[in-house]
Amino acid sequence: SSPTVQDVLQRLQDADVAFLRLQFTDILGQTKNVEVPRTQFAKALGGDVTFDGSAVEGFTRVEESDMLLSPDLSTFLIYPQFSREETGGGRVARLICDVTLPGGEPFAGDPRRVLRTQLERAQERGFEMYVGTEPEFFLFERTAGGLGTTVTHDKAGYFDLAPIDRGERIRREIAGRLVEMGFEIEAAHHEVAPGQHEIDFRYAPALETADRIATFKFVVKRVALEHGLLASFLPKPMPGVSGSGMHCHLSLFRDGQNAFDDPDGEHGLSDTARQFIAGLLAHAEGMTAVTNPLVNSYKRLVPGFEAPVNIAWSTSNRSALVRIPAKRGNSTRAELRLADPSCNPYLALAVMLAAGLDGIEQGLEPPPAIARNIFKMTVREKRHHRIKDLPSDLREAVDELEKDEVLRAALGEHVMDRYLTAKRAEWREYSSAVHAWELDRYLDLV
Ligand code: GLN
Ligand code: MG
Ligand code: MG
Ligand code: MG
Repeated sequence: SSPTVQDVLQRLQDADVAFLRLQFTDILGQTKNVEVPRTQFAKALGGDVTFDGSAVEGFTRVEESDMLLSPDLSTFLIYPQFSREETGGGRVARLICDVTLPGGEPFAGDPRRVLRTQLERAQERGFEMYVGTEPEFFLFERTAGGLGTTVTHDKAGYFDLAPIDRGERIRREIAGRLVEMGFEIEAAHHEVAPGQHEIDFRYAPALETADRIATFKFVVKRVALEHGLLASFLPKPMPGVSGSGMHCHLSLFRDGQNAFDDPDGEHGLSDTARQFIAGLLAHAEGMTAVTNPLVNSYKRLVPGFEAPVNIAWSTSNRSALVRIPAKRGNSTRAELRLADPSCNPYLALAVMLAAGLDGIEQGLEPPPAIARNIFKMTVREKRHHRIKDLPSDLREAVDELEKDEVLRAALGEHVMDRYLTAKRAEWREYSSAVHAWELDRYLDLV
């Protein structure tokens, strides 16, 4: 149940809030804020704050640049971490907004809108999607001048019990702030690589989780900065060690019951679950361009680091793209291990849901679950099991996305168009750069 405008105005006053941030996300996943002072609160809550959409990546043409921010009152939050010195007294609060055109119609280029549309599609079939997520990130040193590096000083490994570095304390502080902000944190731990951490969110309705991912990144970066460190969500900042993923645990609920659970089904899964999984696999190639959006994302998707490479599912092993965790009942879910934390969370969850729903609508049947470690299979064995590879670079992924009609319908022409254009430009820029690897390898050789 969402508070009313009156409730929010009252809370702003009671908490002595000086600034209200109106937050939204652009197509490429950057979180944007328009900040308003006290005098503008009533206007802002009435959805009457305009901004110039042409200044935002992928948003609009110059001719139609006036956009409105329509706050979702259920997202109201007072930030705990802003000091009084910073704001000249008073606190800072935020509201996540939907972006609308001057006439009030929803803007087709608003990623939050794209996700809402898929959630409505699910709702028509009686489903509500829940998502829990496990974002991973690195904490790095900064130079004396404040520039980022990829230097980590900690030597701790996965689940180490004796924390020996600053990273540990900072991660705990991040988790504490998030809890203060109403997050339900299930676990926080050191990851495999030096300087790498993970914080797990309890599952929640998909839109709430997408909003939380956006907020999470901001909080992690900010707390790290307060400690003079750099927090990075770059999927593969260092070669030879694990990259950062953002596994997503997806489940559908119907009438308050988990729709994936069926004690009589194979693996304890319902037909709905099987079809949803089949849809995820069928659209995996196109989806990747959205869930793994950077040139760098594809350097994570290589064998040997618990990141997926092959399009398969499993009830046991972590080399598969989709893993079904052991718990059943209301915890029955599909863990999609594809996304990395550089993705736009709204678009990423929207394409996952669109893919899964397509599987349900078409009654798709998944291939048999793979019990073995796929990384250890030969090419012939993989062919025998009809296991395809994920796209190996951004260019291939973008071509796959363009071909996928289901994902095109889910993103809408506007987003699809801007997204393909932006990603192709990014690829061209990368391709024309001369990389350190090329010089190391060839300069003296030829
Ligand atoms: N870092 C791995 C990835 O890139 C995941 C490791 C794990 O959580 N088991 O997906
Ligand atoms: Mg985990
Ligand atoms: Mg992990
Ligand atoms: Mg996981």
